[in-house]
Amino acid sequence: MHDQLTFQDPVTRFPDISPPKQDQPEPGLDVELIPGTDRGEHSYRGTGRLEGRRALITGADSGIGSAVAIAFAREGADVALAYLPAEEDDARHVCEVIRAAGGKAVALPGDLSDAKYCQQVVHDAADGLGGLDALVNNAGRQIAVEDIEDLSDEQWGNTFDTNIRAMFRVAKTAVGYLPAGATIVNSTSVQAYSPSTHLLDYASTKAAINNFTKGLATQLAPRGIRVNAVAPGPIWTPLQVSDGQPKEALPHFGKNTPLGRAGQPTELAPAYVFLTSTESSYVLGETLNVNGGQPSP
Ligand code: NAD
Ligand code: MG
Repeated sequence: MHDQLTFQDPVTRFPDISPPKQDQPEPGLDVELIPGTDRGEHSYRGTGRLEGRRALITGADSGIGSAVAIAFAREGADVALAYLPAEEDDARHVCEVIRAAGGKAVALPGDLSDAKYCQQVVHDAADGLGGLDALVNNAGRQIAVEDIEDLSDEQWGNTFDTNIRAMFRVAKTAVGYLPAGATIVNSTSVQAYSPSTHLLDYASTKAAINNFTKGLATQLAPRGIRVNAVAPGPIWTPLQVSDGQPKEALPHFGKNTPLGRAGQPTELAPAYVFLTSTESSYVLGETLNVNGGQPSP
């Protein structure tokens, strides 16, 4: 298989998939996703861009977070992985790939809607890695609801707790550890600008994440801590089959992008590597769109 540095046509680099209708309870698992995804196990080639870095990545068991964890390890970083206890099978696989790359993998299962875990996971990551100089706030939940009258107060609260409130809590604790030169990268979404009608709560959290990223970047700049965001478009991950999309939408997932296909998780990894590596030292408060060509602000 070609690595990410080989000259390739982006239209055909990955197949144009038409996922069958399928359902998984929340959170979904990569091991049960049809078709499977590319998280870079066989294709991501490191070039020493994160040598010696110590990173906490939330939602690192699957999808985009797992591709970022694998890429960070191949670039020379040690990684602490936060994920839900139900995702142990996915997390074990990613830990194995990290260790095979020569990196340290620290597994820290827990629920980010719990304020105590948001703090504890940071302390445990710093303990396990001997310090912390990179944070990737990537965990998120997405549950499609077609009509505002069916969108419960409870769901609205849960989505905000997981997607943006936990991001604030984790970042707040992490800042106590992060030295000058450290970075925070937050996962937002194209939904921040182009909200789907069935994702009112989710899309609102993603707009909040963009704003939080710019504000925090400005605040932490004098301390030498850089904060940025990555905004993925339609990426084939377990999020989409655990009620993230209406079932009838799955076979068409990602086909409306200019590239005409859904993205694979490993296509996101270089954006997170760039924003974490010192090569982006003059990039702050930026949202890097990785969305198959959908015009974005
Ligand atoms: P994913 O399901 O593989 O990853 C999401 C992860 O979030 C889960 O693996 C889980 O570990 C974590 N998570 C969810 N609720 C949690 C909780 N209460 N406590 C702890 N962890 C929790 O799906 P993904 O698509 O890779 O999502 C990663 C990020 O990318 C999310 O923030 C998502 O909003 C964002 N994103 C995804 C897409 C896409 O098309 N897949 C598009 C734009 C943005
Ligand atoms: Mg998962």
